[in-house]
Amino acid sequence: MNPLWTLLFAGLGERLIPHGDEIQTEPPIEPNATDAIVEARKALRTVQDFERHVGENVDKLALICRAMWELLRERTNLNEEDLLKKVREIDLLDGALDGKVKNPPKKCSKCSRTMSKRHARCIYCGTEALLDTAFDSI
Ligand SMILES: [Zn+2]
Repeated sequence: MNPLWTLLFAGLGERLIPHGDEIQTEPPIEPNATDAIVEARKALRTVQDFERHVGENVDKLALICRAMWELLRERTNLNEEDLLKKVREIDLLDGALDGKVKNPPKKCSKCSRTMSKRHARCIYCGTEALLDTAFDSI
C-alpha cells in the first residue's frame, strides 16, 4: 500500500483506499501522525492544482497550435502530410522518435561549461546565454 494514500485518507473514519478496483479499509493511524496527514493533504492539493494548471495550459497551447496550423494550411500550399513530416523531423532532432523534443544542454560561448536552462547567464563566468531559437528558453 502506498503510504501517501494511507496518510491522505487517514482520519476519515472508515478509510477508502483506491487499489485497482478494490476498496480497502486501513487500520487507524497513530495520533501523532496528524501533522503529517495535514501536510500530506496540503501537498496533494498543491499537486492537484498544479496538474490542473498545466492541463489548462496544454489545452490552450493545443488550441493555439491548431489555429496557427489552420491559418498556414488555408493560406499556403502546405498539407497534413507536410505537417506530419515536419513533426517527425523535429521529433528526431534530439535523436529519439518519442513524441517530444528536448533541447540538448548548451555550452557557454566563453568558458565552454554546460549552461543551465534555468539561468539567463553562465553560472561560472557570467556570460549571457544566447538564444538560437524562441524555443531555447522553454
Ligand atoms: Zn561561462
